Order: sequence, then C-alpha cells, then structure tokens
Amino acid sequence: MDKINIQVEGKSVLVLGGGISGKSAIGLLKKLKSSRVILYDKVYQDGNFDEFFSDSSGLGKAGKADLIIKSPGISPDHPILEEAKFLRIPIYSEIDLAYSFFKGKIVGITGTDGKSTTTALTGFLIQKMCPNSKAGGNLGIPFSDFCLENLDYAILELSSYQLEDSEFFQTSVSSLLNIAPDHLERHKTIDNYLEAKMRIIKNSDKNHRFIVNQKLQNQIKTYLNGYKGQVLYFGSSKNSDAYINFENSSIQTKNFYYSYKDFKLVGNHNVENLAASLLICENCLCEPALLQKSIPEFKGLEHRFQYVDTIQNLTFINDSKSTNIHSLVAGLSYLKKGKKVVLIIGGKAKGKDLEPFMIATQHLDLYVYLIGEAIGLWEGDLRSHFKERLIVRKDLKEVFRNLPEIIEKIDPSFVIFSPGCASFDQYKNFEERGTHFIELVEELKLKTL
Ligand code: ADP
Repeated sequence: MDKINIQVEGKSVLVLGGGISGKSAIGLLKKLKSSRVILYDKVYQDGNFDEFFSDSSGLGKAGKADLIIKSPGISPDHPILEEAKFLRIPIYSEIDLAYSFFKGKIVGITGTDGKSTTTALTGFLIQKMCPNSKAGGNLGIPFSDFCLENLDYAILELSSYQLEDSEFFQTSVSSLLNIAPDHLERHKTIDNYLEAKMRIIKNSDKNHRFIVNQKLQNQIKTYLNGYKGQVLYFGSSKNSDAYINFENSSIQTKNFYYSYKDFKLVGNHNVENLAASLLICENCLCEPALLQKSIPEFKGLEHRFQYVDTIQNLTFINDSKSTNIHSLVAGLSYLKKGKKVVLIIGGKAKGKDLEPFMIATQHLDLYVYLIGEAIGLWEGDLRSHFKERLIVRKDLKEVFRNLPEIIEKIDPSFVIFSPGCASFDQYKNFEERGTHFIELVEELKLKTL
C-alpha cells in the first residue's frame, strides 16, 4: 500500500477527545498550519484549539470539519462519528495522522501486558546503535509529538484501541507479546480483541518482520492469511527463533547466544519481553554483541514489579501497573516455592475468573489483602480458597495499619502490591496508586527504625 498523505494545511480539523494523544494531535495540526482546530470532549480541556464543544450529539459540528482525528478513548460508535460517516468526512486516528508525516522506520509493539516495558527496553537498545531514534506512542510521548523529527526509528507502544482505529499505519517490524482477557468492555470478545491487536501487521510488505510469542502460534494462524512478511517466534521451545533457556539464563537466536544473567528485571515474563526485544533489535540491524553488552544497563520502569525497599529483611515490591489477572500471575512467577509472601490485590476488578491466580499461588506461603471495589466481586471465592489467610481492608492505608501485626505473626520475605485491577475506584491512575504505596512503605520504615 502506498503511504497515505493526509492533507491538513488550511483545513478545518475536528479532534475527538482531548486526552494526551488528542492534545498532541492538536499541537501537530497547529504546526502543520491547519486553518481551524475544533476540540470535542465530554469535559472542558485547556489547549491550543480554536473552538471547543462538549455536546455529544455533535449535530452540526462534524459538518464543519474537513477531517476528523479520533482519540483512542472515544468509542467507535460515538454519535459524532456516525454523523461524520454519513457526511463522508474522513476519520483518522492520531497514529495514522502522525504516521503520514513520519519519514523514518517504525517498530510497533502490542500485547495485553509488557508493552511499556518492551517498548522502553527496545528503545533503549536501539538507541545504543541508532541514537537518532525515539520510543513513545501509548507510552510517554505520543507519536504526534515527534513524528516531524528526522529519526531513524520510532519505537511505538500500540494499544488495541489505537490499532483498531488505524487504517493506514505501517510498521517495518512489529511484535505481539501475549494475549489475555482485557478491555472486553470495548472489544466484547477475546476474538475481537485479538483481531484488533493483529491489525499491527495490516499493510505490511514482504520485508516486514512479525515477532510473536510462540504460545500464540495457533491462535494467530487465521490472521496470517495474506501476510507477506516473515513471522519469528520467541519462547521456551527449542525451535523458537529466540529460544529462551530458563535453566541457564540464555536466549539463543540464529545470530547470537545471549546471556541474561545480569538482566535487572525479574520474572519469566520479563525474559520473554527481552527475547522479543532482542529479535526486534536484530531485525533493525543492531549488533548482537552491543545488545549483549547493553542488557544489564536497562533499569526497568516504575510501577512494574519495581523494587521499593528492604526493611529488616522484608522486601517491598510495587507492581501497581498490574491491572489484570494475567499480569498479576506473571509477576508471581518470580517467587520461589515456599516463600512467605504478603500480597495486596484489589481495586476496580475487570473480571471474576480467579482460577489462574489460585493456581499460580499454590506454591507460595501466602497472606492476601483484598482492597477496593473488588471486595464485592472477589471476596467470596478468595475466602473459600484462602480461608483465614485472606484479610479484607477498605484501602491501602488500612492495609498498612494492620501490616505490622501480620509481619510479626508470619515473618514474610516479601510484601507485594500487585492489584490485578484497574485503579479508578480509588485513584486517578496506576502511577498515583503506586506512588501512594511507596509513601506508605516509607512511613512504615520511619516507624520501624
Ligand atoms: P503494558 O504497557 O502492556 O500494560 P507494562 O510493561 O506496563 O505493560 O506492564 C504491566 C504489568 O504487566 C506489570 O504488572 C508487569 O509486571 C506485567 N508484565 C510485564 N510484562 C509482562 C508479560 N510479558 N506478560 C505478563 N505480564 C507482564
């Protein structure tokens, strides 16, 4: 497919949604001299637009625009979009808009969990070889913020919402890390969700490389009809293109035998992220020896199984970004058999199926705190399973009030905050929630010393 060229100079553009990517699109449109930028959002947002409205019926507003830029958070059946389709006004995603002006190569990374970590890691590694590259998208800086820069590579984290909306976007290398039930309030079924994720290979040509978790080999088959590029798998089976050997901490590709003994990130899931990242980097012509040298230098991101502190042999971990059961279970894979662990879960639950969690915790000597809105949905099942080892508390503050008593009683090695739930019942976002946890650990430390 020929690269799309979106004309915005001198045009009137309606931006739907004034969040991070919508605001970034407005900035780009202004730089590109759109004649009029209109913003729609449910609530008033500050910004550099010419007109704002919040009437969701949108009648008459869409008619004023030459084109529409849709933010990922806006539902595809929003009345303004219906109206725009009727009026045949072109609709683009923020990613398509930025893509149309970008001159370099694009690496796209998606999956249910690990997107941010893998995007940051891949950005870090590619920059070692090509310093003139940048990571962003759904993580950190939106693509519209830097698409006019003359870069070698843009390494983009892409959510299913962004992919669902993007028609023209094309990558050189892309990766699907994993798939587990999430965001089903929007996608309705896991098949729709996977279909949205698989749009990451839409429009790709024969030079494209698609880096996929081997566990998904069967699931993705039907979506590969018509795909002209090459699929490369990472996983722990020997025929993987990046073969992870957990026994001796190595990853073998056809080019290099990597050791990850000094990799700072813990857990098997992070080794999978590393394997994906190495395959991506090799296919962006990075030198394997330089990649090997750089592996220990990556420090990871905050709120993802982040080490906080150790107080009298008790280690505190902040995994506030764990917003579903899949990521909660992945984090626990790091803990060795028989370890005494206090785990804090809860928040705004996304589902009721706790079986993967029950199975993943069988090997641990576990006390579980349950907090937030999830109490209503999860307490019954958790109580039947954990009996008196389940402690229900309203919020994190109450947990920390009770914690010294439990520490005294069981002498655990870890306190892990991995909610497995969204944060919106009690916090603005996962960052605020994780920062609160860290503050409470600091307070506890002051009391202990
Ligand atoms: P995303 O951007 O996809 O939400 P993050 O890198 O921010 O991913 O991590 C989110 C959560 O998922 C964290 O709790 C992290 O420990 C966990 N996680 C990271 N990588 C993986 C993976 N490959 N599989 C499962 N969980 C993961």
